[in-house]
Amino acid sequence: MAASGNALLGLEDVTLCYATSEQIVTATWRVSFDVAQGDRFILLGPSGCGKSSLLKAVGGYMTPTEGHITLKGQPVTRPGPDRMMVFQEFDQLLPWKTVKQNIMFPMVMSGKYSKAEAADRADFYIDKVHLSRARNSFPHTLSGGMKQRAAIARGMATEPDILLMDEPFAALDSLTRGQMQDELLALWEETKFTLMFVTHSITEALKIGSRILLLSAHPGRVRAELNDLDGLRDNPLRSKAMEADIYHLLFGQAAPAEVE
Ligand code: ADP
Ligand code: MG
Repeated sequence: MAASGNALLGLEDVTLCYATSEQIVTATWRVSFDVAQGDRFILLGPSGCGKSSLLKAVGGYMTPTEGHITLKGQPVTRPGPDRMMVFQEFDQLLPWKTVKQNIMFPMVMSGKYSKAEAADRADFYIDKVHLSRARNSFPHTLSGGMKQRAAIARGMATEPDILLMDEPFAALDSLTRGQMQDELLALWEETKFTLMFVTHSITEALKIGSRILLLSAHPGRVRAELNDLDGLRDNPLRSKAMEADIYHLLFGQAAPAEVE
Protein backbone atom coordinates (compact mmCIF):
# COMPACT_ATOMS: atom_id res chain seq x y z
CA MET A 1 0.00 0.00 0.00
CA ALA A 2 1.85 3.09 -1.19
CA ALA A 3 1.51 6.56 0.24
CA SER A 4 -0.73 8.61 -2.02
CA GLY A 5 0.27 12.05 -3.27
CA ASN A 6 -2.31 14.22 -1.49
CA ALA A 7 -1.90 12.86 2.06
CA LEU A 8 -0.82 15.25 4.80
CA LEU A 9 1.53 12.60 6.18
CA GLY A 10 2.75 9.59 4.25
CA LEU A 11 4.80 6.61 5.39
CA GLU A 12 6.02 4.22 2.74
CA ASP A 13 7.67 0.91 3.65
CA VAL A 14 9.16 2.30 6.85
CA THR A 15 11.52 -0.08 8.60
CA LEU A 16 12.92 1.11 11.91
CA CYS A 17 15.87 -0.50 13.68
CA TYR A 18 17.86 0.04 16.86
CA ALA A 19 21.51 -0.98 17.00
CA THR A 20 22.53 -2.16 20.46
CA SER A 21 26.01 -3.42 21.35
CA GLU A 22 24.90 -7.06 20.89
CA GLN A 23 22.36 -6.93 18.07
CA ILE A 24 20.16 -4.97 15.73
CA VAL A 25 16.56 -4.82 16.91
CA THR A 26 13.98 -4.41 14.15
CA ALA A 27 11.16 -2.37 15.66
CA THR A 28 8.93 -2.08 12.58
CA TRP A 29 8.97 -3.77 9.21
CA ARG A 30 7.88 -1.99 6.02
CA VAL A 31 5.01 -0.06 7.52
CA SER A 32 2.99 2.09 5.11
CA PHE A 33 0.06 4.37 5.78
CA ASP A 34 -1.32 7.83 4.99
CA VAL A 35 -2.81 10.37 7.35
CA ALA A 36 -5.18 12.96 5.90
CA GLN A 37 -5.99 16.41 7.23
CA GLY A 38 -8.42 16.15 10.16
CA ASP A 39 -7.92 12.41 10.75
CA ARG A 40 -7.85 11.08 14.29
CA PHE A 41 -5.43 8.36 13.32
CA ILE A 42 -4.68 5.64 15.87
CA LEU A 43 -1.70 3.32 15.98
CA LEU A 44 -2.91 0.31 17.96
CA GLY A 45 -0.93 -2.75 18.86
CA PRO A 46 0.59 -4.75 21.70
CA SER A 47 3.47 -3.46 23.76
CA GLY A 48 6.76 -3.60 21.87
CA CYS A 49 5.25 -3.56 18.36
CA GLY A 50 6.96 -0.29 17.46
CA LYS A 51 4.22 2.31 18.04
CA SER A 52 6.48 4.75 19.91
CA SER A 53 9.25 4.17 17.38
CA LEU A 54 6.89 5.10 14.52
CA LEU A 55 5.81 8.24 16.36
CA LYS A 56 9.44 9.15 17.03
CA ALA A 57 10.22 8.70 13.34
CA VAL A 58 7.31 10.94 12.34
CA GLY A 59 8.54 13.42 14.95
CA GLY A 60 11.93 13.40 13.23
CA TYR A 61 13.77 11.88 16.19
CA MET A 62 14.57 8.62 14.42
CA THR A 63 15.62 7.96 10.81
CA PRO A 64 14.13 4.98 8.95
CA THR A 65 16.59 2.28 7.90
CA GLU A 66 14.40 1.77 4.88
CA GLY A 67 11.45 3.67 3.42
CA HIS A 68 10.26 7.27 3.44
CA ILE A 69 8.27 9.67 5.59
CA THR A 70 6.82 12.80 4.04
CA LEU A 71 4.81 15.67 5.50
CA LYS A 72 3.01 17.83 2.94
CA GLY A 73 5.15 16.14 0.30
CA GLN A 74 8.44 17.08 1.96
CA PRO A 75 10.74 14.46 3.51
CA VAL A 76 10.83 14.46 7.32
CA THR A 77 14.46 14.79 8.38
CA ARG A 78 14.42 16.48 11.78
CA PRO A 79 12.06 17.54 14.58
CA GLY A 80 10.03 20.71 14.02
CA PRO A 81 7.16 22.74 15.49
CA ASP A 82 4.94 21.45 12.67
CA ARG A 83 4.87 18.09 14.54
CA MET A 84 4.29 18.55 18.26
CA MET A 85 4.49 15.58 20.63
CA VAL A 86 2.62 14.73 23.85
CA PHE A 87 4.10 11.86 25.83
CA GLN A 88 2.77 9.49 28.47
CA GLU A 89 5.17 10.69 31.15
CA PHE A 90 4.10 13.45 33.53
CA ASP A 91 7.61 15.00 33.57
CA GLN A 92 7.52 16.44 30.04
CA LEU A 93 7.05 20.03 31.25
CA LEU A 94 10.03 22.18 32.20
CA PRO A 95 9.96 22.17 36.02
CA TRP A 96 11.39 25.69 36.39
CA LYS A 97 8.70 27.27 34.21
CA THR A 98 5.04 27.92 35.03
CA VAL A 99 2.22 26.35 33.02
CA LYS A 100 1.91 29.48 30.92
CA GLN A 101 5.67 29.79 30.38
CA ASN A 102 5.82 26.11 29.37
CA ILE A 103 3.11 26.64 26.79
CA MET A 104 4.74 29.81 25.46
CA PHE A 105 8.19 28.22 25.17
CA PRO A 106 7.90 26.32 21.83
CA MET A 107 5.95 29.20 20.27
CA VAL A 108 8.71 31.66 21.11
CA MET A 109 11.44 29.18 20.12
CA SER A 110 9.81 28.55 16.73
CA GLY A 111 10.21 32.25 15.89
CA LYS A 112 6.66 32.21 14.46
CA TYR A 113 5.20 34.32 17.27
CA SER A 114 6.25 37.40 19.21
CA LYS A 115 6.32 37.10 23.00
CA ALA A 116 3.05 39.02 23.27
CA GLU A 117 1.35 36.80 20.68
CA ALA A 118 2.66 33.69 22.41
CA ALA A 119 1.30 34.94 25.75
CA ASP A 120 -2.15 35.56 24.23
CA ARG A 121 -2.21 32.19 22.52
CA ALA A 122 -1.06 30.45 25.72
CA ASP A 123 -3.94 32.08 27.64
CA PHE A 124 -6.40 30.99 24.95
CA TYR A 125 -5.30 27.34 25.07
CA ILE A 126 -5.01 27.32 28.88
CA ASP A 127 -8.72 28.18 28.97
CA LYS A 128 -9.48 25.51 26.35
CA VAL A 129 -7.92 22.76 28.51
CA HIS A 130 -9.56 24.10 31.70
CA LEU A 131 -6.34 25.14 33.43
CA SER A 132 -7.18 28.79 34.04
CA ARG A 133 -6.61 28.56 37.77
CA ALA A 134 -3.21 26.88 37.33
CA ARG A 135 -1.93 29.38 34.74
CA ASN A 136 0.94 30.55 36.95
CA SER A 137 1.56 27.30 38.82
CA PHE A 138 4.72 25.23 38.53
CA PRO A 139 4.43 21.64 37.22
CA HIS A 140 5.26 19.95 40.56
CA THR A 141 2.08 21.42 42.09
CA LEU A 142 -0.19 19.87 39.42
CA SER A 143 -1.98 16.50 39.29
CA GLY A 144 -1.10 14.05 36.51
CA GLY A 145 -4.22 15.03 34.58
CA MET A 146 -3.41 18.73 34.84
CA LYS A 147 0.14 18.13 33.61
CA GLN A 148 -1.24 16.28 30.58
CA ARG A 149 -3.69 19.13 29.94
CA ALA A 150 -0.75 21.56 29.97
CA ALA A 151 1.22 19.34 27.58
CA ILE A 152 -1.79 19.16 25.22
CA ALA A 153 -2.20 22.96 25.32
CA ARG A 154 1.50 23.36 24.60
CA GLY A 155 1.19 20.95 21.67
CA MET A 156 -1.86 22.65 20.20
CA ALA A 157 -0.76 26.25 20.70
CA THR A 158 1.83 26.20 17.91
CA GLU A 159 -0.91 24.94 15.56
CA PRO A 160 1.18 22.04 14.29
CA ASP A 161 0.29 20.25 11.07
CA ILE A 162 -0.13 17.13 13.18
CA LEU A 163 -0.33 16.51 16.92
CA LEU A 164 1.47 13.33 17.96
CA MET A 165 0.34 11.68 21.20
CA ASP A 166 2.07 8.64 22.69
CA GLU A 167 -0.25 6.94 25.20
CA PRO A 168 -0.91 10.35 26.80
CA PHE A 169 -3.56 9.06 29.22
CA ALA A 170 -2.12 5.63 30.04
CA ALA A 171 -0.69 6.64 33.41
CA LEU A 172 -3.90 8.33 34.61
CA ASP A 173 -6.56 6.78 36.84
CA SER A 174 -9.48 5.44 34.81
CA LEU A 175 -11.94 8.23 35.73
CA THR A 176 -9.50 10.97 34.75
CA ARG A 177 -8.57 9.04 31.61
CA GLY A 178 -12.21 8.93 30.48
CA GLN A 179 -12.60 12.64 31.16
CA MET A 180 -9.42 13.51 29.25
CA GLN A 181 -10.56 11.40 26.27
CA ASP A 182 -13.86 13.33 26.23
CA GLU A 183 -12.04 16.65 26.45
CA LEU A 184 -9.69 15.73 23.61
CA LEU A 185 -12.65 14.83 21.40
CA ALA A 186 -14.38 18.11 22.33
CA LEU A 187 -11.23 20.04 21.34
CA TRP A 188 -11.11 18.15 18.06
CA GLU A 189 -14.77 19.00 17.36
CA GLU A 190 -13.86 22.69 17.67
CA THR A 191 -10.80 22.85 15.43
CA LYS A 192 -10.60 19.49 13.58
CA PHE A 193 -6.84 19.32 14.02
CA THR A 194 -4.96 16.29 12.69
CA LEU A 195 -4.14 13.78 15.40
CA MET A 196 -1.90 10.73 15.45
CA PHE A 197 -2.52 8.87 18.69
CA VAL A 198 -0.75 5.79 20.00
CA THR A 199 -2.44 3.37 22.38
CA HIS A 200 -2.44 -0.31 23.32
CA SER A 201 -6.06 -0.07 24.51
CA ILE A 202 -8.68 -1.26 22.04
CA THR A 203 -11.39 0.61 23.96
CA GLU A 204 -9.43 3.86 23.82
CA ALA A 205 -8.66 3.39 20.11
CA LEU A 206 -12.34 2.93 19.31
CA LYS A 207 -13.34 5.91 21.44
CA ILE A 208 -10.78 8.37 20.04
CA GLY A 209 -10.13 7.23 16.48
CA SER A 210 -11.69 8.01 13.14
CA ARG A 211 -9.20 5.52 11.68
CA ILE A 212 -7.15 2.75 13.28
CA LEU A 213 -3.99 1.08 12.03
CA LEU A 214 -3.52 -2.30 13.69
CA LEU A 215 0.07 -3.43 14.10
CA SER A 216 1.14 -6.99 14.77
CA ALA A 217 3.65 -7.88 17.46
CA HIS A 218 7.37 -7.48 17.16
CA PRO A 219 8.54 -6.43 14.64
CA GLY A 220 5.53 -4.25 13.97
CA ARG A 221 3.85 -4.81 10.62
CA VAL A 222 0.54 -3.51 9.37
CA ARG A 223 -2.11 -6.07 10.30
CA ALA A 224 -5.19 -4.13 9.20
CA GLU A 225 -6.47 -0.64 8.59
CA LEU A 226 -9.93 0.31 9.87
CA ASN A 227 -11.46 3.41 8.36
CA ASP A 228 -14.62 5.52 8.79
CA LEU A 229 -15.06 4.69 12.45
CA ASP A 230 -17.08 7.80 13.28
CA GLY A 231 -20.35 6.02 12.45
CA LEU A 232 -19.52 3.38 15.07
CA ARG A 233 -19.68 5.63 18.09
CA ASP A 234 -23.48 5.88 17.99
CA ASN A 235 -23.87 2.14 17.66
CA PRO A 236 -22.80 0.29 20.83
CA LEU A 237 -23.52 -3.15 19.38
CA ARG A 238 -21.38 -2.64 16.28
CA SER A 239 -18.74 -1.05 18.43
CA LYS A 240 -18.65 -4.10 20.74
CA ALA A 241 -18.43 -6.43 17.75
CA MET A 242 -15.57 -4.37 16.32
CA GLU A 243 -13.75 -4.53 19.66
CA ALA A 244 -13.97 -8.33 19.60
CA ASP A 245 -12.79 -8.42 15.96
CA ILE A 246 -9.79 -6.24 16.74
CA TYR A 247 -8.87 -8.39 19.71
CA HIS A 248 -9.00 -11.44 17.48
CA LEU A 249 -6.87 -9.77 14.80
CA LEU A 250 -4.26 -8.70 17.34
CA PHE A 251 -4.06 -11.80 19.46
CA GLY A 252 -5.45 -14.56 17.25
CA GLN A 253 -7.98 -15.64 19.86
CA ALA A 254 -11.33 -14.59 21.29
CA ALA A 255 -11.32 -11.76 23.79
CA PRO A 256 -11.83 -12.43 27.51
CA ALA A 257 -15.06 -11.04 28.98
CA GLU A 258 -13.61 -7.58 29.72
CA VAL A 259 -11.28 -6.15 27.11
CA GLU A 260 -9.09 -3.19 28.02
P1 ADP B 1 5.74 0.19 21.62
O1 ADP B 1 5.70 1.67 21.76
O2 ADP B 1 4.75 -0.36 20.64
O3 ADP B 1 5.60 -0.51 22.94
P2 ADP B 1 8.54 0.59 20.91
O4 ADP B 1 8.51 1.41 19.68
O5 ADP B 1 8.84 1.28 22.19
O6 ADP B 1 7.17 -0.23 21.02
O7 ADP B 1 9.60 -0.57 20.75
C1 ADP B 1 9.63 -1.44 19.62
C2 ADP B 1 10.79 -2.42 19.75
O8 ADP B 1 12.01 -1.72 19.72
C3 ADP B 1 10.77 -3.20 21.08
O9 ADP B 1 11.23 -4.49 20.82
C4 ADP B 1 11.76 -2.45 21.93
O10 ADP B 1 12.36 -3.32 22.86
C5 ADP B 1 12.75 -1.95 20.90
N1 ADP B 1 13.36 -0.68 21.34
C6 ADP B 1 12.72 0.47 21.62
N2 ADP B 1 13.58 1.43 21.97
C7 ADP B 1 14.82 0.87 21.89
C8 ADP B 1 16.14 1.35 22.13
N3 ADP B 1 16.37 2.63 22.49
N4 ADP B 1 17.17 0.47 21.94
C9 ADP B 1 16.95 -0.79 21.55
N5 ADP B 1 15.73 -1.30 21.33
C10 ADP B 1 14.67 -0.50 21.49
MG1 MG C 1 5.40 2.88 23.42
